[in-house]
Amino acid sequence: MLLRFTCLLTFVFMAKTSLAQSYDILIKNGRIIDGTGNSWYYGDVAVQAGKIAAIGKLDRAKAKRIIDATGLVVAPGFIDVHTHIEGNEMVTPTADNFIHDGVTTVVTGNCGGSSLNMTKYFARLDSVKTSINVASLIGHNTIRRAVMGDAQRDPTAEELAQMEELVEKAMQDGAVGLSTGLIYVPGTYSKTPEVVALAKAAAKHGGVYASHIRDEGDNVTEAVSEAIAIGRAANMPVEISHFKVTYKPNWGRSVETLALVDNARKEGLDVTVDQYPSLRR
Ligand SMILES: [Zn+2]
Repeated sequence: MLLRFTCLLTFVFMAKTSLAQSYDILIKNGRIIDGTGNSWYYGDVAVQAGKIAAIGKLDRAKAKRIIDATGLVVAPGFIDVHTHIEGNEMVTPTADNFIHDGVTTVVTGNCGGSSLNMTKYFARLDSVKTSINVASLIGHNTIRRAVMGDAQRDPTAEELAQMEELVEKAMQDGAVGLSTGLIYVPGTYSKTPEVVALAKAAAKHGGVYASHIRDEGDNVTEAVSEAIAIGRAANMPVEISHFKVTYKPNWGRSVETLALVDNARKEGLDVTVDQYPSLRR
């Protein structure tokens, strides 16, 4: 009985493997970097109905379209977490610039500026059928201006409640977190407790806190510390945008700012940074 069962299993197994699978697309012989932190390896990737159906040595597989990736890297699309595409996605929905760089997902609404009405924004995006995925943060400056204009003062309790409500609404409508631009008007008029309150409203819905910090020059350490403190108080991940130190007298102070980030991470806080290349004249 046991023997018969084993034979049957072997037969089923052989039948399955002897049939050459057929896919829509087969990307062959690439160096696969799977994005999980694994080392790269040579392999093939099969795509069926727009989804990855198999990865590995697929020597017997057939496909309607075969792409020879010899000498090339095959990787998941990159996610660009710091973009300012607002508006351009409607002009060039094919987003060739991103696609040619291997970027398939972008996060916009950075530095405190975003669409106020996420539902409308995402509907507009869908209507132009962008070739990339787009996520948006809800911008603090956008929210503050909607509630208080460019007033140079703290919000009243009522205004703060209105801003919290707008953040929550945006999060419910699909925003991925709160962004601040504390160097810009009107965000620069806010104090830390206001930002903490709004960050908490975003954290309630699983959002991140992404910040163009208050000062990237002489007071850069205070500004990095503020971003970390906001994440700690609101119990949420912090992304410090375009991490840098500006002005020549501050060159080299990344030793201090990176230590702040390292220490926060040792403390267990989820603090990350992004950078862009700059041309120095
Ligand atoms: Zn910025």
